[in-house]
Amino acid sequence: MIAINNLHKSFGDLEVLKGIDLNVEKGQAVVVIGPSGSGKTTFLRCLNILETPTAGTVAIDGHMADFSKPLPKKQIMEFRKQSAMVFQHYNLFPHMTALENVMEGPVTVQKIDRAEARAKAEELLTKVGLKEKMNEYPFQLSGGQQQRVGIARALALEPKVMLFDEPTSALDPELVGEVLQVMKELALEGMTMVVVTHEMRFAKGVADEVLFMDAGRIVERGTPQEIFDYPKEERTKQFLNLIQ
Ligand code: ADP
Repeated sequence: MIAINNLHKSFGDLEVLKGIDLNVEKGQAVVVIGPSGSGKTTFLRCLNILETPTAGTVAIDGHMADFSKPLPKKQIMEFRKQSAMVFQHYNLFPHMTALENVMEGPVTVQKIDRAEARAKAEELLTKVGLKEKMNEYPFQLSGGQQQRVGIARALALEPKVMLFDEPTSALDPELVGEVLQVMKELALEGMTMVVVTHEMRFAKGVADEVLFMDAGRIVERGTPQEIFDYPKEERTKQFLNLIQ
């Protein structure tokens, strides 16, 4: 589903991604962990071309982006449609209800008929447990509920891959579980996902594969058991010691 080859990203003189290679199979949940500043968010943003990589290639479901040359805008737009991102700060439109927030992408980007978009949005909000809150505005919702709207909004675009960038780090601790639960259900349903998170329990319980990133590289990768119980690399061991 995702094939990444020799992906590089620099900001000016700062090389943040130093050659990432990764293949993700359809239906896999990959969790990316690592110290702050190691390039996890940048990596995720490159997969949706929210950041333009400096070099390398990314293919999602056969849609290829080769960053060794400038990409035509149309190709970028087409490539972006393959995935959808859930952000740390949910960035909902404050003047729209939960339902309208979820309908917005399908109606304005995909030009889907409003009635159809509404039916789909209702279905998705029900799926994330917010049937009763559809007509509320973001300020009337808790952070956990807002993030679940954020997930429904991303799903409304019918992506083949979901990208989660620290989706629970802005939440009060008691609200983290409800968001992780929705993500876990998505993984169990077979959604292909790449998740940057500090939630190690989620990584242990849900990930098919865990990547440990440090200083712009994937230092170690494996099953949750391999990474958490039998880490091989010194840097992985040090990181796990600090957080566990
Ligand atoms: P992580 O998600 O692992 O904390 P990031 O991908 O956010 O790491 O950041 C990696 C490095 O890239 C950091 O040194 C950060 O300051 C730098 N960086 C991220 N985004 C930008 C940007 N837009 N411009 C310049 N430097 C950036």
